[in-house]
Amino acid sequence: MDIVNNKRSADLFSKAQNTIPGGVNSPVRAFKSVGGTPLFIKSAKGAYITDEDNKSYLELINSWGPMILGHAHPAILEAVQGAVNNSLSFGAPTSKEIDIAELICSMVPSIEKVRMVNSGTEATMSAIRVARGFTGKDKFIKIEGCYHGHGDAFLIAAGSGAVTMGVPNSPGVTEGTAKDTLLAPYNDVDKIEQLISENKDEIAALIIEPVPGNMGLVLPTNDYLKKLREICTREGIILIFDEVMTGFRLAKGGAQEVFDVIPDMTTLGKIIGGGMPVGAYGGKAELMDYVAPAGPVYQAGTLSGNPVAMAAGLAMLHHLNDNPSVYTDLAAKGKKLVTGIQAALDRKNLPYKVTLLGSMVCLFFTDKEVNNFADAQTTNTEKFGKFFHAMLDNGVYLPPSQYESWFMSQALTDENLDEIIAAVNASLDSIEA
Ligand code: PMP
Repeated sequence: MDIVNNKRSADLFSKAQNTIPGGVNSPVRAFKSVGGTPLFIKSAKGAYITDEDNKSYLELINSWGPMILGHAHPAILEAVQGAVNNSLSFGAPTSKEIDIAELICSMVPSIEKVRMVNSGTEATMSAIRVARGFTGKDKFIKIEGCYHGHGDAFLIAAGSGAVTMGVPNSPGVTEGTAKDTLLAPYNDVDKIEQLISENKDEIAALIIEPVPGNMGLVLPTNDYLKKLREICTREGIILIFDEVMTGFRLAKGGAQEVFDVIPDMTTLGKIIGGGMPVGAYGGKAELMDYVAPAGPVYQAGTLSGNPVAMAAGLAMLHHLNDNPSVYTDLAAKGKKLVTGIQAALDRKNLPYKVTLLGSMVCLFFTDKEVNNFADAQTTNTEKFGKFFHAMLDNGVYLPPSQYESWFMSQALTDENLDEIIAAVNASLDSIEA
């Protein structure tokens, strides 16, 4: 990327290195795998994001998922503005926490009771602790290439920033912790059966992104999720769907609604906070009543259920619950975008693979069908980097990694989608001359 044209971002990035590790507060933001200078963002509205050099881009990150209605949606801003006048935090229960809990329980099929936390990471760490506490077992099965936040036990064959940075197994995670995380490839039921027979009666849980968005976007094949449900029921293993990405995005009840498979526990984040730092975990009452103070599994948070965050989340969830057309509308936008991308690939006779579910999209730079992490790793990440920068030059800001899903927002108009498709054509022309 032409640094001169992004002078202020370049200066800020250089300054940030002095006091922030790598200049960013979350690794993928640093553009490390695609090269160049990350854009420092000043503001965003609707489908557009504006950087410190006053350039605006159509964008398909949407804060990595939360901004499903587009940026600065009036209903959410109004809710937050109303809440801040009553102080920012109490550390005491509020009626809004009941409202959001009731709404979540009514929207997400598996959730009878729910605990609010501050991030997806906290949600998954807590859900695993409950599963272990409840079953009295230590081990759990994780799917290669799925990302469940940065809790120690999950940083084994982890996707997202961990694989983008080349550290799917992070230093600092002890061998003692790692040995309790058992690994299976996505879409492979036989490997799950094998792990279960090798670790008979030792497995507390199976945690999975039902539709992984952290190794690019990968879809389940051949009733995979239904089979996992059957196996977990048969073996007394707690099935946890990590719907931090897919929750309230694929449908108001998430992937579990779309595939009609009900897990024992569900973890949520991103959209649930409307852009504020919120996560949640929930499930069967019997399991959730194991959480303190109802039960013995400890989990707490000074800012959990924060009134401003709850106001933003409530406004977002109410909007989604009251307007089911959001999902049909987003699905139509997704279809239009992917049809355009496929036509661009066909025009140039390129074998790359596009995946789509609802408003989640991915373009894999490989000629192999991507059904798991090993397939995702056959992609040409260097080529993705070139494509990423060409798209930026053409006014579209994509997630700066091959191993991420693109997230669409409802703010994208038909005209915006035409612009993005034109950018895809122009970018493929420039990198595949
Ligand atoms: N689970 C999944 C499926 C995620 O995609 C993420 C974040 N991308 C997390 C957990 C962690 O959430 P957070 O970054 O809010 O800690």
